[in-house]
Order: sequence, then C-alpha cells, then structure tokens
Amino acid sequence: MNSSILLIYTGGTIGMKQDPETGALMPFNFNQILDEVPELKKFGYKIDTYSFEPPIDSSDIQTGFWIEIARLIESHYDNYDGFVILHGTDTMSYSASALSFMLENLRKPVIFTGSQLPIGMLRTDGKENLISSIEIAAAKDEKGDAMVPEVCVYFESQLYRGNRTTKYNAENFRAFRSANYPVLAESGIHIRYNRSSISYPESKKANLKVNDKLDTSVAILKIFPGITEQFVESFLNMKGLRAIILETYGSGNAPTASWFINSLRKAIDRGLIILNVSQCHAGKVDMDAYSTGILLKKIGVVSGFDSTTEAALTKLFFLLGHETETQVVKNILVENLRGEITIN
Ligand code: ASP
Repeated sequence: MNSSILLIYTGGTIGMKQDPETGALMPFNFNQILDEVPELKKFGYKIDTYSFEPPIDSSDIQTGFWIEIARLIESHYDNYDGFVILHGTDTMSYSASALSFMLENLRKPVIFTGSQLPIGMLRTDGKENLISSIEIAAAKDEKGDAMVPEVCVYFESQLYRGNRTTKYNAENFRAFRSANYPVLAESGIHIRYNRSSISYPESKKANLKVNDKLDTSVAILKIFPGITEQFVESFLNMKGLRAIILETYGSGNAPTASWFINSLRKAIDRGLIILNVSQCHAGKVDMDAYSTGILLKKIGVVSGFDSTTEAALTKLFFLLGHETETQVVKNILVENLRGEITIN
C-alpha cells in the first residue's frame, strides 16, 4: 500500500514563492503542493496538506501553537504514516523539542523542516528539504514499521533528533547543529539511516498520548563576567517563577562569590528549581569537575547534562505543566525522557 503523509504548513520562509514577473514574494499555495512541486508525484504517496491560517513567522510561536500541532497530529494519527511540519527556522528547535515531550509513545515520524530561501526561488534549499523530509516520513523498515519514529528536524541533507538541535547559522544552508548527538540519517545518493542512534518504542501497544499542559513559569539566566548581585536577586525574585535555566560556563561552572551562591541557595530553599545548562554548544555539565561546579551541586542545583537550552526549557514547561511537586520535577529532570540528554 502507498504511504500517506500529512504535510502541515505553519509558516516561515519556505512557504514563499516569487512572482516570475514582479519578483515579489507571495505565500505558496500548499493545497496545490503536487502542482507546485511536481517532483513529489514521483513518490506515488498520498500527500494531504493542512495549512495554519494565517501562516506565521516562527518568531511569533507561542505554546498554544504547539498544543494545536500536537492535537492535529493526534486527530490524524491513525490516517497517516508520517507527518511533515513546515516551520520557520528561527524557533524550529524549540518547537521540535516541545513536541518531543508532548507526543508520548510516538510510533510515527514527525519531521520538522523549512528553508533559508523561499521555495519559489531559483537557488532554494526548500525543495530538497521538503522532498527528503517526505521520503523520510514515509520510510519503513523490513517489518513495515516507521524507520524513524521520532520528532526530528531535517535540514540540508541531515536528519537530527529534534530535541538535540539548535539553530546555529542565519546565513548558511546548514542552519542547524546537533552538537551532542549523532545525525539520525544523512541523504546523499541514498538516504542512509543511522539506526543505532534512532530510538524505537519499547512497546508497540502503547497508544499515542498527548501531554498538552505546559507551564511557562521558567526563565533563562545567562551568567557573564560582571553580573551583579542586584541583577541576580531581582531575576530570582521574579513573581510566579517556578524554575530557571542557569546558563553556565564550560562544564557547568559559575562564579564562586558568596553573594552569588547565597542568592541561588535562598532561591532553592524557597522552592525554585535551578537547572544547570552550559553556554557551550558541545560537551556537558559536570558539576564534579571543578570546585565552582561542586558548590552549585552542594546547594541543590540540578544538572542539565548535555541538554540544549531549547530542550531544557521545553522539558521544564512540560514537567511543570504536569507535576505540582518540586521534588518530583527535579527527579524527572535528570531522567532521559526522549533522548534529550546523555546521562553518563
Ligand atoms: N523568520 C523566519 C521564521 O522563522 C525565518 C525562516 O523561516 O527561516 O519564520
């Protein structure tokens, strides 16, 4: 039987085409996708489209939008073999990370892609990204199960685990990086799947579960030389805050000044969760490596291991949305839920 794919258009650069006469960029009609990108017909797949109205620049994405996407996938889950989500690149890593936590027991591919140049432009990267994403979303293994049953980002011939990505380049076609986890597939003449890095569901019986409660009472505190006590204190005392991501140096290090450690300690004693994520893109937090990290561990700062900030943030949204107990959230934070962290 031919594969069937639901192509979901949310907005972003990919959905633009150039009027051949005026040169102006206009939104692309995704309802006529097979006419607009005739190459897709060669697959012989059934490709249905769904467009968000109006399409949005991904800088405008809010959590409600993730819930809409998750519910859309849930309501069409049984009718399609895979889902391709066309999305602006600016916040694609946040959306892919969020969806990875929201879609529990996922057994079908959910592939985010987009482009740096509009699909209707001569040198566009959009066509290859779209065509390969559809092929990957339809790919099955020898038993007929999905080849990549994960939330992924496909860009410039690389398939990444979504919650491991960061937008890294605003100019180059290779816009994304997954510094701490290998690519799941690479497309050249063939699409080569790196099956040992793909995560497969333990049980085929568990049904898809959509976790759609997200609590955004989280903030990101990036430390820098010259950071002041006044700034840290007012940040940590922000009303309604339940957790912060502390973006530290190197392998999870922060200033040892007593005012700094005391400010964090008081916040933790009040019940604030502090998650340590490195400002470095590659490598991991190791709070045992230096005395500066050991101090943080002692006062109860939680390790984010090798998490991206995008994955840490959306994992907190998801956990805080579903758990009221601070200690329970802290316990689950150090668990690897969707392949987002590597625990040594
Ligand atoms: N600003 C655009 C967006 O993220 C950029 C893009 O699509 O690449 O929606």
